[in-house]
Amino acid sequence: MKKLVDFSRFSSIRIGPKVEVELIDTVDSAFESYFLVGGANNLLISPSPPPLATLSKAFDYIRIEGDTLLIGGATPTGKVVSFCKRHDIAGFEFLAKLPGTIGGAVKMNAGVKEYEIKDRLLWIRTHEGVIPASKLNLQYRRSDIDTIVYEAGFVCERGYNEELRQKLLQLRSNQPKEPSAGSCFKNPPNDYAGRLIEAVGLKGERVGDMAFSPIHANFLVNLGKGRFDEAIRLIEMAKSRVYERFGVVLQEEIIIV
Ligand SMILES: Cc1cc2nc3c(=O)[nH]c(=O)nc-3n(C[C@H](O)[C@H](O)[C@H](O)COP(=O)(O)OP(=O)(O)OC[C@H]3O[C@@H](n4cnc5c(N)ncnc54)[C@H](O)[C@@H]3O)c2cc1C
Repeated sequence: MKKLVDFSRFSSIRIGPKVEVELIDTVDSAFESYFLVGGANNLLISPSPPPLATLSKAFDYIRIEGDTLLIGGATPTGKVVSFCKRHDIAGFEFLAKLPGTIGGAVKMNAGVKEYEIKDRLLWIRTHEGVIPASKLNLQYRRSDIDTIVYEAGFVCERGYNEELRQKLLQLRSNQPKEPSAGSCFKNPPNDYAGRLIEAVGLKGERVGDMAFSPIHANFLVNLGKGRFDEAIRLIEMAKSRVYERFGVVLQEEIIIV
């Protein structure tokens, strides 16, 4: 089944075409040739993307089975936090206000400060069966996952911590409010992408309706009718200036599709 998606509304950065997306409601190797879209909170989608697919509501569920928390790949992260609060489960507080689905969070090894999805991940379920987390090479905002995550299994331990959730939410209070895809670049070892972008004079830099936020330089924000090509120009500008001045190769955290 297909679904028409307008990425200029659906994606968090509000950029992208209106295109048909394959809706996956069963585990099947036939879908491996598509680019998988989760909540589109980390994507910059070009005007002519490759064939896209997304998991249907059939993969939006949370279940406790013994010591394991089973979560469907399409489950929104906010729903996971509410579930954990209700069932007194520890370790998912950092997902509050980290927008997306569990599939996207696992693939990106999403995290806030020292908390990351890999801390609790036991395995993922793919069209080829279960793969243990130890085989996924989960690192800072990356993994070796190159297949669709239909379900993930996590450690299920008691001890939800509301204080921690509030503390992590506080960190977000000064984030830019305009549409973005979160951090544009990964932080290089022992440094901050935002500091480097600011140091080369690009904090607040605007091309058309896209800009590096004047509040947080590593947030590429859409000020209205921002376009893909404007976003790319800013990304290229930051990469070349930071390399020329500091010899540091900035790596995109945002995924260009
Ligand atoms: C305001 C804002 C703040 C943010 N803050 C943070 C933060 O603090 N920390 C952080 O880590 N991230 C942050 N992000 C980025 C984003 O929230 C995370 O990367 C999130 O995990 C993306 O999930 P998604 O479902 O939207 O994935 P998408 O953006 O749709 O996709 C991201 C990647 O995951 C893949 N993917 C998605 N679903 C699946 C699946 N089921 N199986 C296999 N691959 C899949 C996609 O193919 C793509 O490669 C922020 C984003 C925004 C907009």
